[in-house]
Amino acid sequence: MKVKAILLVCLLFIFSCKNSPDTINLLLVNGKIWTGNELQPWAEWIAIDGDELVGIGEGVAEYSAEDTIDLKGQLTLPGFNDSHVHFASAGALLLGINLLDVSNEQKFVERIKGATERLPKGTWITRGDWGAYESWEVGSVGDKNEGTSFMPNRQLIDDFTSNHPVLVTKFDRTTGMANQLALEHLGVRSNTGILRDDQLTDALKQIPEKSFELLVAEADRAFQECRKFGVTTVQDMSPLKSVDVYKHLEKEGKMTARLLFSPSRLSDYKMMIDKGWVIDWSDPNRPQQNVEGFLGFGTIKSHIDGIMGARSARFYGPYNDNPMDQPDWRGGWREFSKDLPSFKDMLIKADEGKIQLRVHAIGDEANAILLDILDTLEQVNGSRERRFRLVHAQVIAQQDFDRFAGKRVVAEVQPYHVTDDMRWMEERIGYERCKGAYAFKTLQEHDCHLSFGSDWPGTNASYYPINPLMGIYAAVTRQTVNGEPENGWFPEQKISLEEALKAYTHGSAFGAFEEHIKGTMEVGKLADICVLDTDLFKTAPKAWLDAKVVYTILGGEVVYKRN
Ligand SMILES: [Zn+2]
Repeated sequence: MKVKAILLVCLLFIFSCKNSPDTINLLLVNGKIWTGNELQPWAEWIAIDGDELVGIGEGVAEYSAEDTIDLKGQLTLPGFNDSHVHFASAGALLLGINLLDVSNEQKFVERIKGATERLPKGTWITRGDWGAYESWEVGSVGDKNEGTSFMPNRQLIDDFTSNHPVLVTKFDRTTGMANQLALEHLGVRSNTGILRDDQLTDALKQIPEKSFELLVAEADRAFQECRKFGVTTVQDMSPLKSVDVYKHLEKEGKMTARLLFSPSRLSDYKMMIDKGWVIDWSDPNRPQQNVEGFLGFGTIKSHIDGIMGARSARFYGPYNDNPMDQPDWRGGWREFSKDLPSFKDMLIKADEGKIQLRVHAIGDEANAILLDILDTLEQVNGSRERRFRLVHAQVIAQQDFDRFAGKRVVAEVQPYHVTDDMRWMEERIGYERCKGAYAFKTLQEHDCHLSFGSDWPGTNASYYPINPLMGIYAAVTRQTVNGEPENGWFPEQKISLEEALKAYTHGSAFGAFEEHIKGTMEVGKLADICVLDTDLFKTAPKAWLDAKVVYTILGGEVVYKRN
């Protein structure tokens, strides 16, 4: 026992004092620092030089520093690492228009007006997805609201949209509404501006491509949101053209989060190689991040099934609601996986090239098929540390949990989905199957590494915020933001605050082979840090939803400070 204690003290001493320069760049003092490092879980000060942590400890920090920040006892965490975002869509939604929760005229007018104020003259205002929350209130487990469906018309907005063509859609994308300017461009006459069916399809095709400047402005807006919520790394699956946008922002010094980009198909990946973007894929433990810059390249992402909302997720058995209408619950195969042998071949080929794989799987059978494929990869290409990323891992059949043992699978999950999906999931797949839904606790117990993220900005039916505290709240409480149900939805799957924080920091870094530079506060790691105004360890989860980030520090630079 004593030997152990002495060893620990020595280790702490080494961790704390390595490479202590005369004057360092930044000293953070008087903090309540959760390090994520089991050897030294808590600290009071952090010394930073360049982009690196050079010291961390308790008591007095013997450094002279160019700058010192008094953390005033506030909770300080490793910067959040969101392992699953759609960055370009998020930027487009934030700078453009989000109508998901709009189902009355006044709100509709306000939102369109807001977009005209943000967007330069001549820019199209598109999508929006109005009415998505009309049936289901945000965050409720409750019943469907009664009421008629909201239908806008162009008279509401024509007066103030003479500089912006508008073509917004209803969330189910069956109906669109164009303003006068857009109708002129489309060569269509309509008093209301409502477009449906072929007319809508044709109109959507005629919306001009966004300019590079607009794409840059959208990404810039998305980075702003990341720093506001203490997110220092995002793992992104945007269209390939976004890389040019990120490179531009990186050159301008405007990337305020590290971004790991993943192409979504093998052909995209090949195009990346042609453009010379790939660093070194031959080393399976490669640092993928171009640390001096902030842009790196991650995995290849693909899909094996669809989503439950559209009944296109692949299950062993039929959906509980409407099985007669949708007898083929296996019909939702996506692009690659319509043809399972070719899909498998693609994964084998990519794996042979030592590329890390991440595959979207929602239904229980879809997840099981991926475990089969993972076995095949081991057999065909030999065993190695793959860290295969099961994206969403949404419903696992009870009999399949044991198959995770020894596989080092990374469950790339988005805990906020729990609060959103619990509203309708039992209705769709029944109580028994829901036991294996978002089963974070059971996954963890079966040797699965949790890597948390948001799926920001969500779908045409739901907005998923980037704020990691929403996800942490969901994982710990399994309640809606309104605190329902009282004990949480399948409460046996709740995880602890520390486990949730770990999954949002170290877990996401591990999933990207980057735990040697990120995810905990240790000497030698990147100084990516977030400071909160609320002590999560001392407050009830409800308070976390209102907690604010005070500082976001990226590579030793303060990129966000709350006024
Ligand atoms: Zn996604």
